[in-house]
Parts: sequence; structure tokens; C-alpha cells
Amino acid sequence: MSQFLRPATVEEAVQMKKDNPGALYLGGGCWINNGARKGQGESLISLETLALKSCEKKDGAYVLGAGLTFQQMLDWKDCYAPLKDALMFMSSRNMRNQATLGGDIGAGAERACLLPLLLALNADLELAGGERLALEDYLKNYPKAGEGPLILNVRFSPGKGHAEVKQVRKSAGGLVVLSAAVWMESKDMPLNEARIFVGGTVEGIQRLTGLDGALGAGSEGNLEKAVASLVKMEGDLKGSKEYKSYVCGVAVSDCVRSCREALK
Ligand SMILES: Cc1cc2nc3c(=O)[nH]c(=O)nc-3n(C[C@H](O)[C@H](O)[C@H](O)COP(=O)(O)OP(=O)(O)OC[C@H]3O[C@@H](n4cnc5c(N)ncnc54)[C@H](O)[C@@H]3O)c2cc1C
Repeated sequence: MSQFLRPATVEEAVQMKKDNPGALYLGGGCWINNGARKGQGESLISLETLALKSCEKKDGAYVLGAGLTFQQMLDWKDCYAPLKDALMFMSSRNMRNQATLGGDIGAGAERACLLPLLLALNADLELAGGERLALEDYLKNYPKAGEGPLILNVRFSPGKGHAEVKQVRKSAGGLVVLSAAVWMESKDMPLNEARIFVGGTVEGIQRLTGLDGALGAGSEGNLEKAVASLVKMEGDLKGSKEYKSYVCGVAVSDCVRSCREALK
């Protein structure tokens, strides 16, 4: 039987999920109300009344409520600048008013634009019940949309480092070819230690490691080629494997260059 459930507390929401196997937590509903979730989530558990909307920056650490919409995060005066760039990847304001941070994570790696950046920042999640889990582990443990436990807050600390994001689309506002994010602590940081994540690969989101070995002399041109040879792409309607690998090399190289500039 389909139900629309309105818990008054986090505990009630978790209990409702236990009592209704297959029910889905409802954030903004962008993904849930899309035809893609056929056959899943006959019952919905609204998160609207749970006040998951905190926006906090303390000692350089950010704590963001999972119920914040993309636009609410953008409108926050202390929003972390690279996060603003990633939020703007969702180019429609109507969608930004609807989509939530928790929903972007819950919808899974294939769809989300924020995940490469949050992974590059080594974000972790505060779950209902107080457990803390690295975002990377949440995505590994619950790869299918809607399977994961309730996320209350997302936390990250950029420290002294700098992050950059880039997205490539087929056309303005069109299908996303890839999203890349890089975090570096210093301009001389070896690329093996930088956190480099690319969404849109055959693995969903791929962490690029082993770049130093593939680089040789270290010019930007070499970096583009090294990234193109490491990233696992396949051809589809968004472009050939060769094009996607090449453009990924350019995007990651741009991010690395901008990080190094910012950290001078
Ligand atoms: C037409 C279309 C265009 C899109 N464009 C973009 C885009 O440009 N960029 C982008 O990043 N994404 C895009 N998406 C993907 C998706 O809509 C977004 O990822 C969005 O952020 C989902 O947020 P929501 O709050 O609407 O999620 P919902 O649809 O409410 O939920 C998505 C999933 O997350 C789960 N969930 C929701 N909140 C939580 C929580 N607090 N804890 C645990 N699980 C939770 C739900 O149960 C569900 O499985 C698009 C989707 C569609 C249909």
C-alpha cells in the first residue's frame, strides 16, 4: 500500500523506515518523482519537518544539514566557494530550490554533481543514531539509490588546502559528460597525495591515483595525457571514449593548475 508518512522526529523517521521495508526518505523529490525509480519506494517518508537545515562554519570546518536545498546553500553567506561552483552545475534555479544535499548523496554516484567535490574534501556524514561514516564508505556500502541510512549532516574541513571543480556538459544545460574535483594541500603536493575524483566514468566516480608514476617530466601536457590514460571511460551518446578521456585530462589539469595558483 502506498503511504505518505510525516515523522515528527528523526527517531520516528527511522522507525517508519524499519516498519515499511522499501519505503524511501523523501528530500526534495527530484529523483523520487522522476520516472527512473519505477517499482521502488511505494511509501515515502517526508523529511520536511525534521529541520535538517543547519549551516555552520566553525574553526574552518563546515557542517551542513542534509535537508538544505542547493539554493539555500548558495544563499548562505559563508558557503564554501568551490561548493558554490559545484552547486551552480545544477543550472536550473527551479531544480536548485528543490534538490537537497542529502538527496544528492542518496540518489547515488551516477547522478550527483556534488559528490566528486565532497569526496575530494574527504567529507563525512552524521547519520541518524549519531554514527559518523566517511562519505566514501557510505557510497561503497549503499551503492543503490535509497538503500542508505538517514543522513542528518554532511561535514568537511578544507584545512589550508584548496579545492577546484569543473564540469563538462554535452551542451549548455545538456547531459553531463563528467564532473571533476581536485583538493591539494600545497602547491608542491605530489599528485599521488592530491585527492582527485571524477564522476561520469565507468565506475561512476573514480579516484585517480598513480598519476605521479604516469607523469614523467610533469608538464601540464603530460598531466592531461596521464589522466586520459588512467580514467576509465566508455563511449555513449555523450561522446566517444577517446573524447571523454581527453576532455577529462583537460578538466583535471585545469583544476590542478588552479589549485597550484591559489596555493602560491
Ligand atoms: C531531470 C533531472 C535532472 C537532474 N539534474 C541534476 C544536476 O544537474 N545535478 C545533480 O547533482 N543532480 C541532478 N539530478 C539528480 C538528483 O535529482 C539530484 O541528485 C538531487 O540532488 C536529488 O535531491 P532530492 O532532495 O530531490 O532527492 P530525492 O529525490 O528526494 O531523493 C533521492 C534519493 O535520496 C534519498 N534521500 C533523500 N534524502 C536523504 C537523506 N537525508 N538521507 C538518506 N537518503 C536520502 C531518497 O530516499 C532517494 O533514494 C537530476 C535529476 C533529474 C530527475
